[in-house]
Amino acid sequence: YWNRYPGARCDIESLEYQYGFEDDLPREWKWTERYATQPEILTYLNHVADRFSLRDGIQLETRVTAAVFDEGANRWAVTTDRGDRFSAKFCIMATGCLSAAKVPDFKGIDSFKGDWYHTGNWPHEGVDFTGKRVGVIGTGSSAIQSIPIIATQSKQLTVFQRTANFSVPAHNGPINPEYRAQMKENYTDVRRRARESAAGILARAPGEKSALEVAEEERRAEFESRWQQGGFALGGAFIDLGLNLQANETAAEFVRSKIRETVNNPETAELLCPRDYPFATKRLCVDTGYFETFNRDNVSLVDVKTNPIESITPNGLRTGGKEYEFDCLVFATGFDAMTGALSNIDIRGRGGKALREKWSAGPRTYLGIQIAGFPNLFTITGPGSPSVLSNMIVSIEQHVDWISDCLVYLREHELPTIEATVKAEDEWVDHVNQVADMTLFPLANSWYLGANIPGKPRVFMPYVGGVGNYAVKCQQVAANGYEGFALAAGGS
Ligand code: NAP
Repeated sequence: YWNRYPGARCDIESLEYQYGFEDDLPREWKWTERYATQPEILTYLNHVADRFSLRDGIQLETRVTAAVFDEGANRWAVTTDRGDRFSAKFCIMATGCLSAAKVPDFKGIDSFKGDWYHTGNWPHEGVDFTGKRVGVIGTGSSAIQSIPIIATQSKQLTVFQRTANFSVPAHNGPINPEYRAQMKENYTDVRRRARESAAGILARAPGEKSALEVAEEERRAEFESRWQQGGFALGGAFIDLGLNLQANETAAEFVRSKIRETVNNPETAELLCPRDYPFATKRLCVDTGYFETFNRDNVSLVDVKTNPIESITPNGLRTGGKEYEFDCLVFATGFDAMTGALSNIDIRGRGGKALREKWSAGPRTYLGIQIAGFPNLFTITGPGSPSVLSNMIVSIEQHVDWISDCLVYLREHELPTIEATVKAEDEWVDHVNQVADMTLFPLANSWYLGANIPGKPRVFMPYVGGVGNYAVKCQQVAANGYEGFALAAGGS
């Protein structure tokens, strides 16, 4: 609904990125392309809302402003920007991990005389870039998808890059009918295997060898085969790419070699080669013609790492002591990830304590599902769960199932409240950090760590232990009578 920028599409394959809570839906729905476009996904969501008669339970065009726990009544009071007041026994925050769009606090932004847009909040009527001089700021997934399209629409496009990114080709196209038939026939099994996998994605099984145990030719052949397949397959080529810097560097150098082969101007190619962080420790991007776009005469690349953007001016922007003039600016500058949408709501738990205050040194949760001091409040794919390191649909459904079962359990056992204990939360946070520290992820200044938001505490937020392992842990917790949760009125 919000991310409608040119070229927006999902970079997990459509046959894997769909609901699995019911068997007929995935068999009935016919995705047209390997990677679904934003309009097709929106059509699908509307179809699901109609098919399951969900609209009566949804209030649109409403922003929740506050959620406050009333300890006397054991109820949440939820208020909205339309003046509504709701009272609920349970409150489930399904506010999204990447929904609080962030435009950096650039000096002079209000003085810009042209039009500016954020990729995560794109005008519904679209934008006509014909004959326009356009500046795009950022080179993450949103930029990498939109730049090739904006380049063909605009008169002149300038890309301002702070960190060069690893991107692999999507090789998008129509879905192979045999593959579609096979997936439909085995959908229940496909879904089960996704739930038990490391990232909820099955497109290609991860390799079992170390990148360092094979000869150069074998390594290159494996990378090449996965590059030709496209999408995230490359990330799983060898077992130690995420764990060992030397192994990781072989993948990093493979991608750089592809960039050098693709981009004609050697200086531009070098600037586009990622060197600031290990391969795939920021989210891997998946593109269609991104690097090729820099061979176009109307496209140029400006490094804003050496010379950060100084200010937005009435006519464009200034960096490195030079002013660039534009009719339009596109901020593909990302999100206040994982915590932003929750922090934007005034959430108050026991004793009126604000969630913003509790998380002032970084988010703390038990399993990414609950927060000590905030009884009967659940978070879907919250920090501390695999969330953004997975196929989000698989992770969302796992949380929805777990929370639904939990609510039934509370009702059947006549328990008024459930609340994560401080001990369980502390132990889980320690575990999440320990597992992250075993990997190369903390070496990148990524949004996984909050590093894209000035002043945000640097804490690795998602759980890297794997979707399958995590689901087993959640099942065990439930099977042991909701171990780590206090099940009654009263605190932890
Ligand atoms: P992002 O990955 O956070 O990228 C933001 C970009 O803006 C980065 O290149 C960043 O540079 C740059 N930037 C931020 N502040 C800047 C500043 N002050 N000066 C210069 N550059 C600045 O955001 P995104 O591209 O919107 O993607 C966010 C996530 O959404 C993705 O990682 C992915 O999980 C999801 N997503 C998915 C899809 C898909 O499924 N196809 C598409 C789009 C997004 P630095 O790297 O130096 O911080």
